[in-house]
Amino acid sequence: MPIKVLPEEVASKIAAGEVIERPASVVKELLENSVDAGARGIKVEMSQGGRRLIRVTDDGEGIRAEEVQLAFERHATSKLEAIEDLPHLTTLGFRGEALTSIAAVSQLTVMTRAKGEEVGTLMRLEGGRILRREPQGATQGTVVTVENLFYNTPARLRFLRSQATEGRHIAELVTCYAMAYPELRFSLLRDGRITFRSEGTGDLYDVLVNAYGLEIAKQMIEMQGNSATQSAIVVRGFVSDPVLHRSSGRHLTVLVNGRWVRDRLLSYAVREAYHGLLPKGRYPVVILTVTLPPEEVDVNVHPAKSEVRFRNSGEVFAAVQRAVRQTLTQRAPVPRTSTTFAWGQAVEGGPGRPVEVGRGSELNRAELALEVQRTAEQPPMLTDRPPRGKLPMLRVLGQLGRTYIIAEGPTGMYLIDQHAAHERVLHEGFQAEIAEARVSSQRLLEPLVLEAGAREGAVLKERLARLREFGFEIEAFGGDSCLVRAVPAILQDIDLTQVILDILDEAFPTDGTPFGEEQLAISLACHGAVKAGQTLSLDQMRELVRQLEETSMPRTCPHGRPTMLHVSAEQLERDFGRR
Ligand code: ADP
Ligand code: MG
Repeated sequence: MPIKVLPEEVASKIAAGEVIERPASVVKELLENSVDAGARGIKVEMSQGGRRLIRVTDDGEGIRAEEVQLAFERHATSKLEAIEDLPHLTTLGFRGEALTSIAAVSQLTVMTRAKGEEVGTLMRLEGGRILRREPQGATQGTVVTVENLFYNTPARLRFLRSQATEGRHIAELVTCYAMAYPELRFSLLRDGRITFRSEGTGDLYDVLVNAYGLEIAKQMIEMQGNSATQSAIVVRGFVSDPVLHRSSGRHLTVLVNGRWVRDRLLSYAVREAYHGLLPKGRYPVVILTVTLPPEEVDVNVHPAKSEVRFRNSGEVFAAVQRAVRQTLTQRAPVPRTSTTFAWGQAVEGGPGRPVEVGRGSELNRAELALEVQRTAEQPPMLTDRPPRGKLPMLRVLGQLGRTYIIAEGPTGMYLIDQHAAHERVLHEGFQAEIAEARVSSQRLLEPLVLEAGAREGAVLKERLARLREFGFEIEAFGGDSCLVRAVPAILQDIDLTQVILDILDEAFPTDGTPFGEEQLAISLACHGAVKAGQTLSLDQMRELVRQLEETSMPRTCPHGRPTMLHVSAEQLERDFGRR
C-alpha cells in the first residue's frame, strides 16, 4: 500500500481509542472536567452500563458561548499555555483531548452556560461532526450527554463487557472521585435509580460510609498525616484494621494530588506495610491520598492520565509505607484471627464454637495437638475397605502444625493439606448438587442484614436470581443493603457477611473477566472448607481422608494446588542411610 496521510475522521477515531477505552473512561474525563471547572455538585447518570447514555451535570464555571466549539477541537484547553506550565499543573486535565475524543466516538450533546453570561449554548455532535449549535436558556454549569458510545467503532463495541461490569466500573470511579473530593457533592443514578451519593461535608469518613457501608467504615482507621515533619509529601487517608480483609486487591484506592491513579509502587508500599498482619492472599481496604508539590510528579505519562511518575519515587514509597505502618502499629488492636469450625461433628467445644487463635502460641499448640493424637488409641488399618478412586488406602496417624494430616500408605508416608483436601471434597459434592439443581441451602434463624456499600450492593442486587441457584436466598432491602435469608449449606457457621462479600469479589471480578459459575463454586468450597490452623480429631481426619478417596480428582484442590505430598518408603530408607 502506498503511504497516505489518514483522513481526519479516521485519525481522530484512532486517537480517541487511547483516551476512551470504555464507558468509565468517558465518566472519568467528564468528572475531571467538572472538578476543574470548580463545580460544587456533580451528578452522573448512566443507562445500560453507560453504553446507551452517560450524562454528567455540574454547576461549575460553564463554557463561554464563543468557546463551546473550540472546546471540542483537539488540543484545545484552557488549562495549559506553554510546556513550562506542565510541572506546576493544578488541574486534572491539560491535554485538551477528552471532549474531542468522546465526541469522535459517540453522539454528544453539550448544554452549558458560563458564569456571567445571560444565555447558554446547546451543541450537538455526531461522530465528531457538529450537527447543531444554538443559544439556549440554561442554568450556570455544564451538562454533557453522551449517547450510543462507540456506535461508529464496532470493534470497540465488541470488546465491551456486560452492562453490569461496565456499570460497576463507572460506579467505582464515581466513588473514587467522591473520596478524592469529599467537599464536593456527587451522585450516581443508574437507570434512573440513585445508587450512590456523597453529601460534600468535606469529611472523607462520610464518603467512606456512603461508599462501603457503615460496617466496613467502622473498621477503618484514619491516618494522621505527617505534615508536622519537614517532608513535602503528605500521606493521609484510611487503612483497614487488619481484622478486615478482602480477597482482592481492588479495594486499594490511590489518589495523588486529587487524581485517581493506578500505581504499582504505592500498592506495593501498602502491601509491605501490612506485611505479617494479614493472612496470605488477603488484601486490606485502603484509601490513600498522597499530596506533594506538582513539580514532584509527572502526570503526562499516559493519554488517559491514569498513571503518574514520581521524581523521587523512593521517598514517596517510604513515606507511604511509614504512614500506613505507623497507623497500624499505633492504632490497630493486636491482630487476632478468629476462626469458626465449619466441618464435621465431633469437635471439642461443639460445632460452631469459635476458636480463638493467638499468634505466638501457634507452634506450641500444634506440637501439643500432635502429641495428644499420637497417644490416642491406634486406629485400625483400613484393610476391610476395597480400594476406591485413585488413592491408595491411607491410615491416618496424626496432625502436623494443625494444617497437615500425616498418613501412612502402602508405599510410604503422605502429608495431606487439610484445607485443600476438604475443598476438593466440598467442591465435587457441590458441583453434583448444582448439576442436579438440588443445592441444599440452610435458612438462617434470623435473616442477616448485609450492609454491602454502593459497589457491592449493586453487584449483589444484579445477581440475586443467579445466586439463588447456588443456594443463596437474598433480597434487596432498601438502600445498598440486602437481606440474606438462606445460604448454601456448604457454608456452615462462618462469618457470613465477610464471606458473601469475599465471594462477590472472587466470582464477579472487575478486571473484565466475566462472572464464572465455576469460580463461584470454587469460592464456596474454599470458604466452607476447614482451614489450616484448626485442630482436627482423628475421627475427623479419617472421615476427611475417606471422603477424599471418593472424589474423582483427589490429588489436587479445585484451585490446582496439590492436596498431598508423598514421601516414599524407598526415599525414607535412602535418606536414613539404610541402603
Ligand atoms: P482538558 O480538560 O484537557 O483541557 P477537554 O477536552 O477535557 O480538555 O476540555 C477542553 C476544555 O473545555 C477545557 O479546557 C475547559 O476549558 C472546557 N470544559 C470542558 N468541560 C467543561 C466543564 N464541565 N465546565 C467548564 N468547562 C469545561
Ligand atoms: Mg478534560
